[in-house]
Amino acid sequence: MADLRELYQEVILDHTKRPRNFGQLPEPSHRAEGHNPLCGDHLTVTLEITDDCIERVLFEGSGCSISTASASLMTQMIAGKTTDEVSELFEKFHGAVTSSSDSAVDVAALGKLVALAGVRGFPMRVKCASLAWHTLVAAIRGDEEHVTTE
Ligand code: ZN
Repeated sequence: MADLRELYQEVILDHTKRPRNFGQLPEPSHRAEGHNPLCGDHLTVTLEITDDCIERVLFEGSGCSISTASASLMTQMIAGKTTDEVSELFEKFHGAVTSSSDSAVDVAALGKLVALAGVRGFPMRVKCASLAWHTLVAAIRGDEEHVTTE
């Protein structure tokens, strides 16, 4: 288990140092901003959605390593997926990070997102890890207003 934890930390560190899909689309079809006041994380998600398929996704913002890594991993996982697949993935991700630390995590369904399951049991960190997803869901729904974890 120690090896796995190290691997997860590496994934998070890697995405914190070199966030993937960082920036904003010039003409997004969907966009939302999210804010986690408890930690000070702030991010913007811009999307290009055609026929319910996520064609492109970028995120931009500043925050702690967990919120940045989570947003970066999220953009990698959702590109090319349909909005239904994305909601399903969000449910699984949210279920995993809010589950008790001794329950099993669906590694097959979550892929690299499993790296973030380490936040389980730390409610503050769960908000950091979920911010990008809440913002994404708001963007897909077309909620222009600011999303907050509070
Ligand atoms: Zn944070």
